[in-house]
Amino acid sequence: MELANRVKSLTPSSTLAITAKAKELKSQGYDVIGLGAGEPDFNTPGYILKAAEYAMLKGFTKYTPSGGITELKQAIAAKFSRDNGLTYSSEEIIVTTGAKHALYSLFQVLLNKEDEVIVPAPYWVSYPEQIKLAEGKPIFINAMEENEFKITPDQLEAAITPKTKAVIINSPSNPTGMMYNHEELRKLGEICLKHDVLIVSDEIYEKLIYTNDKHVSMAEISDQLKDHTIIINGVSKSHSMTGWRIGYAAGSTEIIQPMTNLASHSTSNPTSIAQHAALAAYNTDEDPNADMREIFSKRLELLYELLTDIPGISLIKPKGAFYVFPNVWEAATQNGFNTVDDWVEALLEEEKVALVPGSGFGSPSNVRLSYAVSADSLKEAAKRIKRFVINHQ
Ligand code: PLP
Repeated sequence: MELANRVKSLTPSSTLAITAKAKELKSQGYDVIGLGAGEPDFNTPGYILKAAEYAMLKGFTKYTPSGGITELKQAIAAKFSRDNGLTYSSEEIIVTTGAKHALYSLFQVLLNKEDEVIVPAPYWVSYPEQIKLAEGKPIFINAMEENEFKITPDQLEAAITPKTKAVIINSPSNPTGMMYNHEELRKLGEICLKHDVLIVSDEIYEKLIYTNDKHVSMAEISDQLKDHTIIINGVSKSHSMTGWRIGYAAGSTEIIQPMTNLASHSTSNPTSIAQHAALAAYNTDEDPNADMREIFSKRLELLYELLTDIPGISLIKPKGAFYVFPNVWEAATQNGFNTVDDWVEALLEEEKVALVPGSGFGSPSNVRLSYAVSADSLKEAAKRIKRFVINHQ
């Protein structure tokens, strides 16, 4: 059957593909260490589970308003006020089926054919595909490794054309774990205001930071920038709730309202029970992130040390999220491979360690390793990678 053009060039998510391959090898009995995971390896906190159970028993099992229940929108507004010093009304917030769907519907609402969205590379794998699905055009800027994988104002300005609708800022970043500070965002924001470009600020890793750096949202910098920003966030990473599928977008009603209209004809609403669970996540004094942050922080230290000890691998120490993004080009070429993709494949075949090649993130010299696995697994993985690199020299 002839399928729609829009899906013909759609590539499956490379992170999910490597996870699937690792799982397949595991099911064949191999001792595989999968470092492809994009989700915390912690259970959803008990008080959130209880809230979901209560919601089910109380009959919150029916359709809800398309943009989410008012109580949850209010709790999200309170979170913005508490954590980011930002004021949003309920009408300026939409609750979505994960942050991924918030981004998907944003691009559907925003883009006409050939409209451009600037995507700093390395980027999260879904941005370009979602932009293309909305008939827009991703325009990539290479964020230099020397500049901690961050774009400069000059690079941004040079990429802007009359067709530019938006730029994506993802801080802390997947896959690099790097963050923009206040001054860097202010300068990028100035360029966006000058050229009337919307900022899509993906803040899903806001709560996973391991240095003293403070998370800054573009919308915090000035009222003008707040008007030019759509914030994307959710509970997936912050509260170990990836499977519950609750995310949200906040910004001008001019954009949020059509996103809500779109939801009314597509998803209808995010799952009612999950919305009540997310409500509990935000309506508490508990800091569910504290333990998780401490463990992630220790694992990052460990993995950073282990990887810097491997010949031909160099890396900048990330500040947040739960990924490292080392440059392995030297190791791969010294090992006789033409591409990092081939090196990654051989590593999986020989040593049964699954990494995600950087090519899927627009950075073909790098690989992404997730440290959402135990410290023992990280030690064993690093041992195997080192053995692989040395054996192939
Ligand atoms: N944005 C980034 C940068 C991500 O890494 C992810 C998940 O991997 C998402 C958005 C989507 O999160 P969710 O699980 O809430 O859809």
